[in-house]
Amino acid sequence: MLDLAMNAPEPRRIAGATGDWEIVIGLEVHAQIATQAKLFSGSSTRFGAEPNANVSYGDAAMPGTLPVLNRGCIAQAVRTGLGLKSRINLTSSFDRKHYFYPDLPSGFQLTQLFQPLVSGGEVLVEMGPGLVRRVRLDRIHVEQDAGKLVHDMDPAMSFVDVNRGGMPLMEIVSRPDIRSPEEAAAYLGKLRLIMRYLGTCDGNMQEGSIRADVNVSVCRPGQYEKWLEDGDFSHLGTRTEIKNVNSLRFVQQAAEYEARRQIAVIEDGGTLIQETRLYDPDRGETRSMRSKETAEDYRYFPDPDLLPLVIEQAWVDGLGAGLAELPDARKARYIADFGLSDYDASVLTAERENGEYFEAVAQGRDGKQAANWVLNELFGRMKRDEGVDITNCPVSPAQLGGIIDLIGAGTISGKIAKDLFEIVYTEGGDPARIVEERGMKQVTDTGAIEAAVDAVIAANPAQVDKAKQNPKLAGWFVGQVMKATGGKASPAAVNEIVAAKLGL
Ligand code: ADP
Ligand code: MG
Repeated sequence: MLDLAMNAPEPRRIAGATGDWEIVIGLEVHAQIATQAKLFSGSSTRFGAEPNANVSYGDAAMPGTLPVLNRGCIAQAVRTGLGLKSRINLTSSFDRKHYFYPDLPSGFQLTQLFQPLVSGGEVLVEMGPGLVRRVRLDRIHVEQDAGKLVHDMDPAMSFVDVNRGGMPLMEIVSRPDIRSPEEAAAYLGKLRLIMRYLGTCDGNMQEGSIRADVNVSVCRPGQYEKWLEDGDFSHLGTRTEIKNVNSLRFVQQAAEYEARRQIAVIEDGGTLIQETRLYDPDRGETRSMRSKETAEDYRYFPDPDLLPLVIEQAWVDGLGAGLAELPDARKARYIADFGLSDYDASVLTAERENGEYFEAVAQGRDGKQAANWVLNELFGRMKRDEGVDITNCPVSPAQLGGIIDLIGAGTISGKIAKDLFEIVYTEGGDPARIVEERGMKQVTDTGAIEAAVDAVIAANPAQVDKAKQNPKLAGWFVGQVMKATGGKASPAAVNEIVAAKLGL
């Protein structure tokens, strides 16, 4: 586990014309729940289907249809809450939030305003060695997504695609505990990682599986601490909300731009209005979209078609018992059990699949050696190829493990192992068979090695004299012999024989 006695990073300060400013950020993250069917219908959630192929009568709000809650979605949201150390509310309820929008056939979104399924919780965000920001969560509620309008298919008309309508989302609302644009991006990255470990959201940001509303305000140093003390939001500045930001980098850029814009407005004697803005990544700026609506504007009320959602503690406990290992716990385990460095353990847990791959290689082998091969050889090699990652890399854990085993058995030298790795990477195949077929076995036959050493000594009398003065030069002979044997001689045997022949 992360050590909570660790220090929190300093909040970001921006020097303005009238003195220093600090940034305060809170995120509302919409994460699509990993599930086969929509929140209130049996329609498929598959991405990339033909427009309106995944739309049931209920999704299209045909009169007389009724919503039926998908238990699997609730289970996923509960798992997420448990993974984030939240409180699971055994009674929650669904409310209608009204909009007029052509991609929302019913005219309202089903969401949870008054009684969310999940309350509280936290995300620990590591910002550097020994620097951890603890971001508290307000709540996680479950809601449905809207459809989308397609404007670029016809010059005169817009089209409606309701495939996304009714998709299950978790809205994860943080407290305004994030203190710099970098932390905002890191927070979202950590949240994504935790959900990917839990298997509750696929985390695919290109497909819109995670979208963040970034709330930003600025205040003078000391004001945030006052808010922490008494919870009075008037200590903090006016916030704006940047809607639907869909990458970690854009979250950071948008927050940075927005904080600086706000400071400029205030220092110019202007007043900020609480509004919703859009981030334009091409221009690197935010633009006003609409003034902030209040809860009354949405005419929220409890959905009369849905009974309150009551779940049992035993069911929650069962989900908790089956919870996957989380990234912080896994990292701590790698450090403790395999003796890995903090950095190596971080890289191996930075994606869920990294750790799964590594553990498959480490199974029954030396963990540190397995980690070195995965991190240095495999990851180093994958970087040279566009589009190759751990999920589709050409070397399986069994193949990589096979290479390591051949080193361990003394069949090949460490140097030959690298050549073997390249062959397996580019051509595939069973490492042991490749070694056999291509004559890559390490030469441990001392007769053959002695002959090679004799030849090198005979050809280099001047070097021999020098080496007799300075035994460190024996390494040069070892190198020559290795070269002469194509790297196949056992380095240990070569060392020994060179030393003996030179009389060192
Ligand atoms: P709403 O429902 O109107 O969007 P909430 O009170 O639920 O408002 O807050 C939405 C988000 O705004 C939360 O993530 C919260 O942390 C964040 N937030 C609230 N006040 C501030 C502030 N002064 N600066 C930055 N973020 C804030
Ligand atoms: Mg909001």
